[in-house]
This record gives sequence, C-alpha cells and structure tokens, in this order.
Amino acid sequence: MNILVINCGSSSLKYQLINSESEEVLAKGLCERIGIDGSCITHQPKGGEKVKTEIAMPTHTQAVAAVIEKLTDEKVGVVKSLAEIDAVGHRIVHGGEKFASSVVIDAEVMKAIEDCNDLAPLHNPANLIGIRVCAELMPGVPQVGVFDTAFHQTMPPKAYMYGIPYGDYEKYHVRKYGFHGTSHRFVSAALSKAMGKDLKDLKIVSCHLGNGSSITAIENGKSIDTSMGFTPLDGVIMGTRSGAIDASAVTYLAKKMNLSPDEMSSYLNKQCGFLGVSDVSSDNREIYAAINNGDEKAQLTADMLRYEIKKYIGSYAAVMNGLDAVIFTGGIGENSWEVRGGVCTNMDYLGIKIDFELNKTIRGTQAKISTPDSKVEVWVIPTNEELLIARDTLAIISK
Ligand code: AMP
Repeated sequence: MNILVINCGSSSLKYQLINSESEEVLAKGLCERIGIDGSCITHQPKGGEKVKTEIAMPTHTQAVAAVIEKLTDEKVGVVKSLAEIDAVGHRIVHGGEKFASSVVIDAEVMKAIEDCNDLAPLHNPANLIGIRVCAELMPGVPQVGVFDTAFHQTMPPKAYMYGIPYGDYEKYHVRKYGFHGTSHRFVSAALSKAMGKDLKDLKIVSCHLGNGSSITAIENGKSIDTSMGFTPLDGVIMGTRSGAIDASAVTYLAKKMNLSPDEMSSYLNKQCGFLGVSDVSSDNREIYAAINNGDEKAQLTADMLRYEIKKYIGSYAAVMNGLDAVIFTGGIGENSWEVRGGVCTNMDYLGIKIDFELNKTIRGTQAKISTPDSKVEVWVIPTNEELLIARDTLAIISK
C-alpha cells in the first residue's frame, strides 16, 4: 500500500509518499508560502534530484493539488494515478484529552480536533484544512490522524496537573499535555528492538533535541512524564523558546516591557532560548562555532542546555526508581557530540558511562555510545515521525 503522510502548517505543507510494505519513501517534498506571493513546491522522487517549481498556491487546496500532480507526473512522479494512493496519514499537533491514540478521521473526529483549536491555535486549524482538502481532492481515500500529544495521555494526574484551582483545570483544560509524542514513541520502539528487550521491561529517558526539545520518561512503553507542558514552550532551553521560567517572571517582564499577553507569548517563543541568551543564533551549530571563537554567551547557552538535560535525566530516573537507557534524537541529539558528551559527563553515579571517542564519530546514525560496563545503555537513534504515521495509518485502516 502507498500511504501519503501530510504535515500541514499554516503556510507550508510537508509530504512523503511511503510504501507500507517496504517502508521506502517513494517521494517527499514541501510546499512553501501557501497564501503568500512566491509560493513554490520542492519535490524529490526516490533516488532523484530535488525539483523546485514556482506555482500559485493561494490556498491549501492548490497545495494538495500540486502534491498530487507531482506524485503522478510523467517525469518526476512515482505513481500512475491517484488510485495508487491508498490512505492519507495526517500529523496533528494537539489532541487535547480526547485522543490517546491514532484514529480514522470522520466528521466526529474533525469536530473533536476543532474543539482543540484553542490549545494549538497556530497548528490545529492548519491541520484541519489539510484534512478537508485531502477529503475533497481524494474522495473515498481513508484518512488517519496521528497526534503529537497522544503518547503522553498515559501520564498520571500527579505528573500532568499544575498547582492551579481544580475547577480552572476542568474549565480551561490547562494541564501538561506534552509534545513530540510520535518521535518518542518511534525511538523507544527502535531502542527496544536494538536492545533486544521488551519495552515493558525498560525504563527509558528519551531526549528529543532539535529546534524544539522535549525529554520524556518512558516506563513499560508508556510516557509517564515529559518536559513540555501545556504548550511546547516548557522544559529545556530551545532554539528560540525560553523553556521553563517562573510564571511570575513572565508577568513581571510583561509589565516592565509593556507587553500584551500575545506579545509576551511571541517574546517567549521567538526571541528567547539559544537566540536570546547567546545573542548569536537559534542554531546549535552556530552556537558551537561561536564557542570555538571564544564567545562567552554562546558557551553559557550550551552549558545551560546540557545542565538542564542532566537535571531531567536525574529527576526521571528518580521517579522511575531506575534507568535502563537514555536515547538521544532530533537534529541536535542525533548530530551534536558536544551536547551528548556534555550531558553524559560525570553521570557515573547514575550508571551512565559513554565512550567519548566513539560518541564524537556518531552523526545521524543509530549507535550505542555507552561503554560495555555502563549500567545504563546510551543510544543515538534517528527519529522518523513520518514512518510512524505511515505505520499507524496502515494498522488502523487494516483493522
Ligand atoms: P531539528 O529541529 O530536529 O531539525 O534540529 C535542528 C537543530 O539541530 C539545530 O539547532 C541544528 O543546529 C542542529 N543540528 C543539525 N545538524 C547538526 C550537526 N551536524 N551538528 C550539530 N547540530 C546540528
């Protein structure tokens, strides 16, 4: 079966066509600047070059039409017709408390996703548009929703509640939801396979470190706590997001800088993090390039990230009463030996020992970087959210 995986943003749309038997990516691409002048689609068939085409995409309808056209194109296409696309899997950011697993999308599910719009105002409405347009242009093709939040619905109330009046939690649904669930689920499953152990027997800390970062405690294959919260702002310092900050510091800064709630939210999400502290860049590579040139604020930024990750690993080992494995994934986790090495230095009290020389050589490939005598195994595992969406889609439509 061929499964089209769609990740629809407010002005962009990423796609992959995946053959579910071989798990090969037949083609992938990106539509950019939807609804903005200068929109274009970049398409890459398996084994072929990227082809960038400028094409008017005033709405997402034209974007999905452009994707279908590319996939079925005589030269750069990979299928003969739409009939060869058997299902569509959609990445959906927020499923609130309504979705603990992936589902076939019908009218009721659409309504439930819409009910979560308030919780992810930038993402869920765009995801819904993607679903509606696919339904319109591919009538009868089953569509499945895979939620970033679903994996974390197993967290117990003591982990997801904030210390606010219970009635306000019930009324406004303000609690920790957690994100990157698809990634944490993918890498933890890959880890269990690599270790040859059942997920039920493993206590794992999964560190997804990228532009956005989240760290999750996984026990018996279930998320029991995670660093992101009500929104993806919480947790460790990120590219442009502050990470955890005292709520009173937020109200204090808003007053001092005369910022409205929306402006404050934009400040915390877009002007803080690596970018704000270092004054250099939101990009981990540029932070390390600046460190190599002696930049002290870049050094401070890198130190903060490594320190915060260490604290999460320690605290999650405490709540799980043990630790069998640590996973590093995401752009930083998969590629930055400096971050991995820094986090795993002086962690022997917890049973973590890595091979620092080996660690330096691992970039973007799956590898165990802990030493043979380390009690805790430390792994680099490249994430693949699209593949998990395709797998879920297949499993659900095959039922
Ligand atoms: P992601 O959001 O998962 O795409 O990750 C983006 C982050 O990964 C950025 O901060 C990049 O600087 C970082 N990154 C990507 N490749 C490398 C690399 N080769 N070395 C260090 N950091 C990298």
